[in-house]
Amino acid sequence: MNRIKGGLSSSLRVWFLTLATLLMLGATGANAQPNQAVEYNIVMALDEGNFRLSVDPDSKAVGASEQSDGDHVKWLFTHLGASRYRITNVALGGKYSLSVKGTGFEVFMGNTGPYSGQSWRLSERSDGGTQLLNKASQDKNSLLFDPGTGAVGMPAENDGNQLQNWYLVSASMSDREVFGQDPVAQDDGNRLPASWSKPTDVQPAFFFAEDVPDSVRDGVPEAMQAAIELWGNYGPVEYWVMGVDPEAGEALVEEFCQRRDDAKQWSFRQCMNRETKGQHSLLDYQQLGADALKEGRPSGSAGHNGGFQWGIHRFASSLPWGMSGKFGIPGDEDQKGVFHEYFHAVQHAHLRTLEHQARYKGMGPVWFVEGGAEYMAVYGHATAQARGMLRVWDNGEFAATHKQFRKIMGGKFRRAKEWDREFGCIKEMVSISYDNPCRSFFYEGGAWAMALLASQTSQDVLLNEFLPQLEDKGWEAAFVATFDRDPDTFYAEFDAFMNQRLGDVLSILPKIN
Ligand SMILES: [Zn+2]
Repeated sequence: MNRIKGGLSSSLRVWFLTLATLLMLGATGANAQPNQAVEYNIVMALDEGNFRLSVDPDSKAVGASEQSDGDHVKWLFTHLGASRYRITNVALGGKYSLSVKGTGFEVFMGNTGPYSGQSWRLSERSDGGTQLLNKASQDKNSLLFDPGTGAVGMPAENDGNQLQNWYLVSASMSDREVFGQDPVAQDDGNRLPASWSKPTDVQPAFFFAEDVPDSVRDGVPEAMQAAIELWGNYGPVEYWVMGVDPEAGEALVEEFCQRRDDAKQWSFRQCMNRETKGQHSLLDYQQLGADALKEGRPSGSAGHNGGFQWGIHRFASSLPWGMSGKFGIPGDEDQKGVFHEYFHAVQHAHLRTLEHQARYKGMGPVWFVEGGAEYMAVYGHATAQARGMLRVWDNGEFAATHKQFRKIMGGKFRRAKEWDREFGCIKEMVSISYDNPCRSFFYEGGAWAMALLASQTSQDVLLNEFLPQLEDKGWEAAFVATFDRDPDTFYAEFDAFMNQRLGDVLSILPKIN
């Protein structure tokens, strides 16, 4: 579920990479003299995706729960006079913006690239506070999407106290990769049993909020079944799908928490406390869908949200729009999203550690995790449809069926090149952090890196060679053993590969059959 090309605009519609930006500032910023730079050391925690930025109500200082010395997490607020500010990243300049997404005020540094709105407007709040609005969103009362700049503004009614809690999302445009969210995760070095890494007979379990339409109730399990047929059944999987109705959403959260309580995994009360508010809570997926519908913007989210300590793969999803017949998105896109998420289960099944950091690092660089999931999803989805294992929806305003395999990969190639040109992303491929201007590149360029590796070995190389070696060897040694060179050598080759023309690179893609 990557970028969606909408019918409304010729420019690429950004799917999850919402570019809304809004930052609450206190007196320090407001009192700055024109053209005087006030440097705020806004520390965006990396790696974990679970750190909190806060605004101190007294000093108005913006801080985070943990510090980092990285240059790229420092932001420069330049007062331009007349309530105008510019916010720029110290290391990266204006290309890197601080963004907020959805009503939960998730803050993330977006690879905003050419879509970024980089000018800011300071506005007074009714409670006496101030806020920075993206200049491109003139109307602060509505969430605006500007297809030209990609800027999204925040609704004013959401400017409540929640503004003082910011979460850095390690997410990308396509899904939330939530690490370390498990409320009772163990850090004692325990490992899951060997059976965790073996295919299972346990069928995936799906849970839908009451207002989720039948077309989704059929479509999501169908897609996962096809993915399982191709890749094997790794589980147990729990896949929780939210609708847009708040009460139906809460009822589903209650069901989730009762299930945890019944299994003696988590007390109902603690679970409800965690899963009904804040980012990455289960209920947040309902709010995301409801907001998107209200604002007429086809954004959504799905993610593999851990579950390891319960011995499961836990997924959550907002309402899939394509299978719901909304926004002109084809159901095929949603199928591909399910493939992508399920491939994360396949990846995670091949690591047994219950220690968060070890699991996070053990998965390897982001391009490998996400590019692997994305390439396997696009290729697997096309294969499943071409073989008649999977329904062809073809119901939206654009086509994303198996017949578009090369076109979809071509789009990824073009965008990956743009990001690489702008941010030097091939040099960033070593990164294990999602919080990187090259995050989008890691998905789309990563899919091409995986396509290249697969073309040199086999399309099933991750399943048959790499993943079975991961637990014992560790990521780098498993990479070398599988692909016969070290990652750095491969990155140099990939650099040359990406310098080719589209027609040349498309020729490495497998036939879909
Ligand atoms: Zn992913």
